[in-house]
Amino acid sequence: MMMDGMSVKQLNTFAIDTTAQQIAIAHNEDELMAAWQAAKACLQPILLLGGGSNVLFLDRFAGTVLLNRIAGIEIHEDNHAWHLHVGAGEEWHNLVCFALEQGMPGLENLALIPGRVGSAPIQNIGAYGVEVETVCEYVDLINMNDGKKTRLSKDRCCFGYRDSIFKHHYRDGYAIVAVGFLLAKKWQPVLTYGDLKRLDCDTVTPRQVFDTVCTMRREKLPDPTITGNAGSFFKNPVVNADTAADILRHHPQAPHYPQPDGQIKLAAGWLIDQCHLKGYRHGGAAVHEKQALVLINQGNATGADIVALARHIRQCVAEKFAVWLEPEVRFIGTKGEVDAVGVIS
Ligand code: NAP
Repeated sequence: MMMDGMSVKQLNTFAIDTTAQQIAIAHNEDELMAAWQAAKACLQPILLLGGGSNVLFLDRFAGTVLLNRIAGIEIHEDNHAWHLHVGAGEEWHNLVCFALEQGMPGLENLALIPGRVGSAPIQNIGAYGVEVETVCEYVDLINMNDGKKTRLSKDRCCFGYRDSIFKHHYRDGYAIVAVGFLLAKKWQPVLTYGDLKRLDCDTVTPRQVFDTVCTMRREKLPDPTITGNAGSFFKNPVVNADTAADILRHHPQAPHYPQPDGQIKLAAGWLIDQCHLKGYRHGGAAVHEKQALVLINQGNATGADIVALARHIRQCVAEKFAVWLEPEVRFIGTKGEVDAVGVIS
């Protein structure tokens, strides 16, 4: 199905009100390929989108936004695990609910994350101590230039902190069409974050973990269907031990999490909050009152408003802590993705 000169406001959770030259919706691999070829034939840039929950449109997009809406969940099981083969266009939170209702736990810490399943491995979505890489078995993707389909097992996905091979080697000209998940039958709750720590690991149920995560998220994070936002705007900076020690000398209360490689993860939201920026506004953009890591669209923000706000935040944090924050959100210019750090530098 093709439409011309359409608003993308409903297609990005930031609710930036700009347009794309065309919008195409694909419900299966053939439609995906056909829409891709059609856009290529017109020499148009193509932006593949799932839920649009991790993008910032800087401007009008002079090309085709291709929405991946490939649906379907297939389940196989063996003695040890359930194996789910899930279409890239399924809503992530619906998958979490479906698995829980079917008695297949393992995704509950990742409840209420906006977006579609196909986007989950790209930035290795994570929350409350669980990342997609812990449950991913494989990713199916198509080379859109020759139609060849490849299955990458988890260890070939090069998962890292909010990172994967799909942001690098397989970034351009590839579409994720399905993701395989492996949910172990021997469930091990992850209760290391926030209110989850209060649950009893011997008696806790997957439903309790799910409910606790949902409550925590609803208390702190703006609902993107009401207030435009793209979740955490910046990544948590991972710094070397000397930099962390320097910050901790001046701010002993700073949250910090040692990483396996000896580096220290700092909480970007805390750093921003220390600069007294909660609620700070620029044009139609603002820093969320309850979680400084989330930038919100107050209703009529442009991409430029969000960029200016992000630049100001980055400067303030650098001046106070000598740490340069990097966006987690991907920036989309007129012709496609652009270097987000470069834009706010
Ligand atoms: P929070 O509890 O205020 O904690 C701030 C940061 O400290 C988190 O980002 C988290 O890093 C880190 N942290 C907290 N407890 C930790 C622990 N026990 N071990 C290691 N690191 C810890 O965070 P929040 O903003 O409410 O978010 C809660 C969870 O949801 C976090 O995992 C966060 O990543 C996730 N979340 C992600 C997005 C997104 O758009 N990417 C949006 C909202 C929430 P990590 O981020 O590395 O976990």
